[in-house]
Amino acid sequence: MVLADRSARREINATHARADAVRLVTGQGCPACRYRDDAVGHWVSAFVNESHTEPDVIGGVIRAGGGCARHLRRLATDDSAAWLMGNVLDPVARGVLSGRVVAGSARACPLCRQEQVATGRLLALLDRMLGSSEVLAAYREGGGLCLAHTVELVDLARPRVAVLVAELAVERLAATDPDDPSRGFDLLTGVDQDADRRARLGAAAERLASTEAEQLTGTDPLGVLQADLDVPACPLCRARARGEWRYLAWLRRPEGPARPVEEDAVLCSAHHHDLVTSHDGVPGVPGSGWVTTVTARRHEGLLAGFARSTATLPRDPWRSSRRQRSALARLHLAPGCRACRAGRTAVARTGALLCLAVDDASIAKRYATCQGVCARCAADWATTVGGGTPPTVADRMRAVLGLVGFDLAELNRKTSWTVRYEPKGVEMGSWRPALAVLDGQVLGGLGVREAVEQGFWQ
Ligand SMILES: [Zn+2]
Ligand SMILES: [Zn+2]
Ligand SMILES: [Zn+2]
Ligand SMILES: [Zn+2]
Repeated sequence: MVLADRSARREINATHARADAVRLVTGQGCPACRYRDDAVGHWVSAFVNESHTEPDVIGGVIRAGGGCARHLRRLATDDSAAWLMGNVLDPVARGVLSGRVVAGSARACPLCRQEQVATGRLLALLDRMLGSSEVLAAYREGGGLCLAHTVELVDLARPRVAVLVAELAVERLAATDPDDPSRGFDLLTGVDQDADRRARLGAAAERLASTEAEQLTGTDPLGVLQADLDVPACPLCRARARGEWRYLAWLRRPEGPARPVEEDAVLCSAHHHDLVTSHDGVPGVPGSGWVTTVTARRHEGLLAGFARSTATLPRDPWRSSRRQRSALARLHLAPGCRACRAGRTAVARTGALLCLAVDDASIAKRYATCQGVCARCAADWATTVGGGTPPTVADRMRAVLGLVGFDLAELNRKTSWTVRYEPKGVEMGSWRPALAVLDGQVLGGLGVREAVEQGFWQ
């Protein structure tokens, strides 16, 4: 009797899991990306409406220095969260100044953690349920996982599911049409909810890297740095944006003697998205189609090779098989994003120049009145530029952050009913400049005014 009950319960659970899996894989776009974004949406609305009062939750955001740039940008552009930004950024600024907190820590970001948990849950469900013909049919119909999530599932799934998922991705990659880059594009880049926010900043950031901008400031690195110091934005984040957008603009020009070759067309999902979408978010910027085609062919080859070598493996032992491990390693061998690399190089070179420039009396005088390097870039100096943060740079960052921190405290104080007799001023909007002072990557290297002009806060 007990056994019969158990087996009936197992059957009911399996039916529910199957129905869940069918529901989750049905619809347009990668199901793991959608599930992940839903989890982020739920977290943000719970945070805005309720959980920001829970010490653990707000404490997690503060300990992460406001969270990674992508997620702080998400929070800072959520209309419902604007009233809360002072409460979040005031303790973050105080934490950074006291040395207890590092600004913009992606490792500690609660929303990145939320994403990892949600993605892991969805992929584990697919690993269990893709053997069901009903789930598989819905998976095929919906188009399946994006490339990044395909590789993640292949990494953790049982051999049969891993091969199946890889083969389905190969089928779709093979169908990428060189004349229509929008086809296959979703598979390569996944659903990117941050893309629209980046695109709003990107139009201005792209102009920084344009030849017209070079004509204005010259290509002399010191001239560019001095021009950047006149803008209330982090010069290193600005250099990163310029380096990345310059690389993307160059990739779109597949002609001329210094044209890019296939090995140059290696981009992370976010940069591939930025390359291919125009600023209204529609895929198909001229000159970007060949990058999509080259990327599709490269991954098609890697995944097909993986599926071939794995399909012939004995079932056990799965993880210990040397061939299996080398097949997985090849999948991860896709070299790092070249646009990210161009950005890192620009930061390293601009940082090295800044180290030298602040020893010059006239530039040091100028630096003493500019906004200067953001708290995140100052904290990352040893890994991005090398060596210790120059005292002039660290001192200026602390001075600017101290002042913006004072405004944030005023903002919070003046929201109280008891001081309603006091006039309200610029401090009420101080959370926006605070974003740029804490982590310049939130605004893509732009100043607040530039971001507002771009319609970043619509
Ligand atoms: Zn995905
Ligand atoms: Zn994050
Ligand atoms: Zn910065
Ligand atoms: Zn990249």
